Amino acid sequence: MLTEKQAILILGGSEMAYQLAKTLQNEEGLRVISSLAGRTKNPRLPAGEWRIGGFGGVDGLVNFLHNYKIRLMIDATHPFARNIKANALKAARLSGVCLLRLQHPPWQQQIGDYWMEVDDENQAAAILPTGATVFLALGRQHLHAFRQRQDVNFIARMIEKPDDFPSFSLMKIILDRPKNKDQEIFLLRDYKIDYLVCRNSGAQTSYAKIAAARDLSLPVVMIKPPSLPIDIAVITDIEAARNYVNRLFKQGIIDHQKPY
Ligand code: NAP
Repeated sequence: MLTEKQAILILGGSEMAYQLAKTLQNEEGLRVISSLAGRTKNPRLPAGEWRIGGFGGVDGLVNFLHNYKIRLMIDATHPFARNIKANALKAARLSGVCLLRLQHPPWQQQIGDYWMEVDDENQAAAILPTGATVFLALGRQHLHAFRQRQDVNFIARMIEKPDDFPSFSLMKIILDRPKNKDQEIFLLRDYKIDYLVCRNSGAQTSYAKIAAARDLSLPVVMIKPPSLPIDIAVITDIEAARNYVNRLFKQGIIDHQKPY
């Protein structure tokens, strides 16, 4: 007898989300659908099924969960993607669909690091000293706060230049992805960087710049990650997520779980 596959929605856009889709795709009895926001022009596509573009707010997401008979939603979006995380939580509560979060724990400061931890980009912009040369490893949507600092030289690295880029005189753009530690050291030295500004995403793929700053004794203005709601299960690695998903479905636990 054919049994219907259990549908899982992965809210993606992070490296972890790609890895999770690849892993769960190989698990028997699961239908894995990944969702991307559609921010980049030629996005890397995840394993399994995928869709691209916003859902149209909480109601749109609730409809999607219903139409695709989603049993489990895994929020594997970037830790700083605040809106979609809030929408996922609300939609889970409204629909009764089980919600898990998958994200790396934040990086911890190590001996040799010199971090100034701030709450957001505005605080980061405010503490930079006049005349400094600053590397912004932030992504294109997060540069507006720095526009007010016409007395600071900025080098900003991003993957794609947006149409509405907030250009100002003392900003240079590098269109590129994060590199390995040696390449990051070369870059930071080459541009004579005095300060690095970045967000604490916890991701391995973007940690090399932190290690490079440590080697160069460079101060880092570290934007703290948003705090997590206390009532959602958070999983921090792919293997644990795979085991958790299998346990939920194979032991029939999902039907008795709290929906979020
Ligand atoms: P956001 O502010 O939290 O979300 C804005 C809106 O974009 C959401 O309300 C939703 O639209 C749509 N959206 C976001 N993620 C989506 C997804 N995975 N699938 C479908 N719709 C999605 O998001 P953001 O900070 O702009 O980030 C956008 C995407 O880029 C996220 O998926 C995130 O994982 C990825 N990303 C973000 C960052 C970052 O620094 N924020 C860094 C790397 C990657 P509707 O309300 O219409 O559903």
